Amino acid sequence: VLTIAVVGAGPAGLYLASELMAATDLEVRVDVYDRLPTPFGLLRYGVAPDHLKMKALGIPLQRTVDDERVRFFGNVELGRDLSVEDLRERYSAVVYCYGASSDRKLGIAGEDLVGTVPATEFVRWYSGHPDTVTTAAVVAAESAVVVGAGNVALDVARILVKSVTELQETDIPQPVLDALAASAIRDVHILVRRGPAQVKFTTKELRELGELDGVDVVIAPGAMDLDPESEASLEDDRVAKRNVEEMRAWASRTPTGAPRRLIFHFWTSPTAIEGEDGVVARVVTDANRPVAGQDTEPIDAQLVIPSVGYFGVPVPGLPYDDASGTMTNVEGRVQRDGADAPGEYACGWIARGPSGVIGTNRSNAKRVVEAMLADDLPDAEPWDAAAELTARGVDVVTREHWNLIDAAEIALGGGAGRARTKLETWESLLGARG
Ligand code: NAP
Repeated sequence: VLTIAVVGAGPAGLYLASELMAATDLEVRVDVYDRLPTPFGLLRYGVAPDHLKMKALGIPLQRTVDDERVRFFGNVELGRDLSVEDLRERYSAVVYCYGASSDRKLGIAGEDLVGTVPATEFVRWYSGHPDTVTTAAVVAAESAVVVGAGNVALDVARILVKSVTELQETDIPQPVLDALAASAIRDVHILVRRGPAQVKFTTKELRELGELDGVDVVIAPGAMDLDPESEASLEDDRVAKRNVEEMRAWASRTPTGAPRRLIFHFWTSPTAIEGEDGVVARVVTDANRPVAGQDTEPIDAQLVIPSVGYFGVPVPGLPYDDASGTMTNVEGRVQRDGADAPGEYACGWIARGPSGVIGTNRSNAKRVVEAMLADDLPDAEPWDAAAELTARGVDVVTREHWNLIDAAEIALGGGAGRARTKLETWESLLGARG
């Protein structure tokens, strides 16, 4: 029997399990561990709650969790409840798929002020991640600054300005929905350090901004006068071309006087976040290029959300490259002392860095599975993980427990006319097991 440990029950880990089971006639058992009591990782705690089509990718992932050859062990943390050695001794192979749970820093003064909330944290908050605390700054802020031009910046900006009526159809936890309903937000400024032709947005996600009720998108017309090099680059880049077309249409619109505004500032970098009494008050910026009609004054704001990328964190006993925040690997084979470490693999964001969409993890998983099957892994008998971990004092959450948590969230949503309302605390998640 090939027994495989997968660390991290997010899309990378669960695709890895399903691709492996599909790719071989060998008898396979897969144990999936996660530090959270719930599976699905960034699909549950990263993909925006109003992206319902993306969220539906949870259906095939649940089928993998339900597969008889798979066991789920939630609330089990590598390094705390289980060591790397435990896994290497007990399994034919271990696949690390624990993602990138931290954030890249701006490296400017004021990042530690109250009211500066990294996008990673803000996303976890509206997604109901049990490790976050609601920030009062979110409710009180009339003006917010989001830094970055990736899809996460778009998610964050959209959730800030979207009406709660529109968010009602999501699984956002009730306290978060209440906080967003009480939000005083009027303006969300998006700082983009380069130009409209260089943004990392995908067009579908960008278009959503222009379709929000009660929101004006503001772009200085001068920002859309591209330099010849940028204009020429659009010929080879369909996404950039469509993005620019969309933004040009917005720039030529007359603002309707809507209660909320999304204001783009191109070629603009924050140089300092200034506070009063330890709380964010304004963002000082530098123009990387002059843009006609675009304000360069400091931006008054009570909330600053740097959204410049996720970053992987090191785990003791595992190789880590601190420049890229990834686990050192070649084609998914973990490297120790410059050579393949037998029986150790990595997949997903911890292996390749924080880029790509959920589906990217599927092709990534396929390639890692090919490497694993080419490596002629040894057999290993499944261990009684639940019993042994329980004996160590670990409060293991099994698949049956997760099914109870899942049912409790659906029941909670049903009571409020919603498909699901997420439970957002450790107590409520663990308590839902009955
Ligand atoms: P991202 O796409 O890599 O974007 C990061 C942005 O931050 C870039 O615009 C980058 O600008 C900017 N940046 C980096 N350092 C900066 C600095 N010091 N100052 C100012 N700006 C800085 O990352 P992400 O938005 O976190 O998204 C991660 C991945 O998840 C992406 O592949 C994304 O497409 C995906 N995702 C997809 C969806 C969706 O499909 N709906 C939703 C969310 C996330 P430069 O380009 O100038 O470096």
